[in-house]
Amino acid sequence: RAKESTAGRLEVYAAHMHATVVRRLELQSELRQALADGDFTLEYQPVVNLETSQVTAVEALVRRRQDGRLIPPDEFIGPAEESGLIVPLGEWILREACQRVAIWRVSDWDIGLAVNLSVKQILSPRFVQTVQDVLDDSGLSADALTLEVDEEVLLENPGEAVERLSELRELGVRLAIDDFGMGYASLAHLRRLRVDEIKIDPSFTRDVGADSTVTLLTHTIIRLGQDLGMQVVAEGIEQPDQLERLRAMGCGYGQGFLMARPMAAEGVESLVGGEANIAL
Ligand code: C2E
Ligand code: MG
Ligand code: MG
Ligand code: MG
Repeated sequence: RAKESTAGRLEVYAAHMHATVVRRLELQSELRQALADGDFTLEYQPVVNLETSQVTAVEALVRRRQDGRLIPPDEFIGPAEESGLIVPLGEWILREACQRVAIWRVSDWDIGLAVNLSVKQILSPRFVQTVQDVLDDSGLSADALTLEVDEEVLLENPGEAVERLSELRELGVRLAIDDFGMGYASLAHLRRLRVDEIKIDPSFTRDVGADSTVTLLTHTIIRLGQDLGMQVVAEGIEQPDQLERLRAMGCGYGQGFLMARPMAAEGVESLVGGEANIAL
């Protein structure tokens, strides 16, 4: 009996696995079709100078349009990475965002652009050339572009990733470490890689002021960034007291729903009309 039920469980498990794999493959081909159909779109979230309240940059965040809704990246970036679609999708994102921001900059608006990269993209053979091509085609000056990579990139694939990122930086673009603070080992790599910016993970921002260890760590990260001459951006600011704390600790820049949510390009354009300042 025991044997039978084990076999039964295995069968159920196998059926479940099968369904999961099938769903994955379906999603991957759906995503490929979505890219061909132009069903991806970008939102842009302002990055704000906490001293002047000025919008200094926007971060491009990809969404998938489906049945009149916008599907967030957490639901498709993973499968896009597994299937390799992230390479053409990432190139589309880069191109679209650079073109858009290059146009804004023509009207004398000194705004920067941040684009997220996945490690698969960075390690793909022609990536550095692709970035150069997109800059040339869009006319965006390299120093207006910040490429964001998760801290994990440096942990999982230090040698090659650091080399590729150094090549990218030689193009004149800026580099940012996203979600900084989750893995301390990345600190070691900061010595080998010239990084322009660190983005403090929202899990720190959330508890800043409320948890003394987190507050201390956050303060330490801000100081570290400053000492290394980096721009420090706190992500996920939702509450006025978080903002005040971060400012008091000398954090230069912030991003979060308190200041602005990610918005369509048209929303960003209406900021230019105004002072490009966010009421803080
Ligand atoms: P990320 O790069 O750390 O982006 C910040 C995420 O935090 C965004 O989620 C943004 O909407 C969200 N956020 C901003 N302010 C707040 C806040 O105050 N509160 C809360 N709760 N959330 C806030 P989103 O757009 O869902 O993106 C999630 C992640 O997906 C990104 O994290 C990034 O790792 C990845 N991603 C987004 N766009 C791209 C892309 O174009 N390419 C690649 N490779 N990854 C992307
Ligand atoms: Mg990011
Ligand atoms: Mg990230
Ligand atoms: Mg982040």
